[in-house]
Amino acid sequence: MSTKNFETIAIRTQTERSQHKEHSAPIYMTSSYKFDDAEEMRALFANEKDGNVYSRYSNPNTSELIEKMALLEGAESGWATATGMAAVFTTFAAFLKSGDHVVSSRSVFGSTHQLLSNIFPKWGITYSYADLDKPQDWEALIGPNTRMLFVETPSNPGIDVIDLEFLGNLAKKHGVLLVVDNCFATPYLQQPLKLGAHLSIHSATKYIDGQGRTLGGIILGSQELIAEIEGFARHSGPAMSPFNAWILSKSLETLAVRMDRHCDNALKVATYLEGHAKIKLVKYPFLPSHPQYEIAKKQMRQGGGIVTIVVNGGVEGARKFMDGLNMFSISANLADTRSIATHPATSTHSKLTEAQRLEVGIEQGSVRLSIGLEHIDDIIADIEQALA
Ligand SMILES: *Cc1c(COP(=O)(O)O)cnc(C)c1O
Repeated sequence: MSTKNFETIAIRTQTERSQHKEHSAPIYMTSSYKFDDAEEMRALFANEKDGNVYSRYSNPNTSELIEKMALLEGAESGWATATGMAAVFTTFAAFLKSGDHVVSSRSVFGSTHQLLSNIFPKWGITYSYADLDKPQDWEALIGPNTRMLFVETPSNPGIDVIDLEFLGNLAKKHGVLLVVDNCFATPYLQQPLKLGAHLSIHSATKYIDGQGRTLGGIILGSQELIAEIEGFARHSGPAMSPFNAWILSKSLETLAVRMDRHCDNALKVATYLEGHAKIKLVKYPFLPSHPQYEIAKKQMRQGGGIVTIVVNGGVEGARKFMDGLNMFSISANLADTRSIATHPATSTHSKLTEAQRLEVGIEQGSVRLSIGLEHIDDIIADIEQALA
């Protein structure tokens, strides 16, 4: 385990440089690799020697990204995938078989919900949903065929939080895997593997890139579990491209300073909006009014960059507010340098019924704000004039 600090690891972990002595990492755009002789080829294929064989398995750029992410999150090993959803799918598919059952937090990313509710049932894999704000309900849902607990904390867009140490102990007691989608927090704010999780998943598309440029996914865990992931991924082929790995490894160099600013800005926005006459509710993990404030403080370094609000006046109030924003982008994405407003009820969560939306804290007036890196005075001024 590295004794260096987060920022230093993110900047100084790098693959060996070539004879050109380039300071910044080059991109290795190659599908395959050559061997010195037939014996080296045999040894690499027999896993008797480390090295690159084919870029569906490994590439210097993906290896650098994985090494950094593993060091930053305290993982032994990792695997990179083309998208965050490929990371989620690969994790489910590598560990679940027909007859298995998953207990998942109800408020999962839309496509994860689709995997659980529409795709895995075809293969005989079932699931139950539990709520982040009702940790006491989780244990009763674990049955003899339960193989995995899956959780997103903080949740999207409800910004609910659950105690990961509590879930880690529950997973241990029942001999099941705890898998955490750590996308909203990043390794800078929350390190699930240190709290008892077996695997941590990231959509690198979000804060790891943080600039709205590229898609990517990463799975982190023990050598033993990542070997199982590898066994599935080498043959099913969800590999990340070297170009995207290069971008994401570069992005990690600035993750800490970006997250500090995202979090500072988001806390200022949340504080400004709380108590505003036109706002019914503000959800942000590091506001003392948040129902799981103490848990958030215990397991997160800061509160993250997402603030979810409920605007008075239902869907009309939310739309009027969003259409009044001049600087914020209206987009379904999040975790960009640019501030973004989303109306979950009519976009990301429009496929749910009203009752299902209310169960995960989405009202008609809910607006998810992804607070960017513009100057805080300009961010608040835009919100202020839109509410006026
Ligand atoms: C975006 C997102 C994903 C999916 O990631 P993609 O890179 O878009 O495939 C998964 N989980 C969470 C929490 C996300 O926000």
